[in-house]
Amino acid sequence: MRRYFLAGNWKMHKTRAEAKELASSIVRGLGETSNRVMVAPPFTALADVKSVLTGTPVLLGAQNMSSEESGAHTGEVSVTMLEDCGVDVVIIGHSERRIIYGETDELVNRKVRLALKHGMEVILCVGETIEQRDTGNAERVVIGQVTAGFEGIESESLGKITLAYEPVWAIGTGKTATPQDADAIHAVIRKTLSSLYSPAAADGMIIQYGGSVKPGNVKELMAMENIDGALVGGASLETDSFLSIALFDKE
Ligand code: PEP
Repeated sequence: MRRYFLAGNWKMHKTRAEAKELASSIVRGLGETSNRVMVAPPFTALADVKSVLTGTPVLLGAQNMSSEESGAHTGEVSVTMLEDCGVDVVIIGHSERRIIYGETDELVNRKVRLALKHGMEVILCVGETIEQRDTGNAERVVIGQVTAGFEGIESESLGKITLAYEPVWAIGTGKTATPQDADAIHAVIRKTLSSLYSPAAADGMIIQYGGSVKPGNVKELMAMENIDGALVGGASLETDSFLSIALFDKE
């Protein structure tokens, strides 16, 4: 039985004080839910937000991490530093990291393996650009990203990985994949995992959808067979919209 996992990615928004306030109001409004819920503030606010989330069911996420353990890597943040801030889950391979900062499949895979080595949960992001979709290559691109992302990862670690399918053309644009289109790619991802591991392992994997998820479209997306949660950008920056998404099954 897969459990819905709703995660907010605050990107480069919120000062420490603003982040604490948003985290506090989310915790206050969440109440009882069987869903897993996570917020990912910027690095500078991780420790502050942890102080709010401690003792609550809301998980603390980080938006990225270095592929190296430690050393001369100016401007990078290590997995140990994330552990030190109480991070539960790290987002790896977000399309903004891949496209703006040139992260390759190989680098993404190194980061995933390093996080797992430290026992940290991962949300691994994949997704095609509009050019790739328009040329009929969406499935091929996503299969390639999933296959490369899981390179060298043993089946015992699969419980620590969530996949996020985020079509690049739907992120921050207001355009959402139709539930049917999203579900079709989620099914392809599950099939890929089935051949990499086993049908049972693939069946147990949580696959989030991301790309302009809003209170108004979350229910129909979550109703699809292969969609098990959401990775939310813009709509996670306000308490009411994020709570409507996190508690979509209570509305
Ligand atoms: C994201 O950045 O992961 C995302 C899905 O953003 P938005 O919800 O704003 O499209």
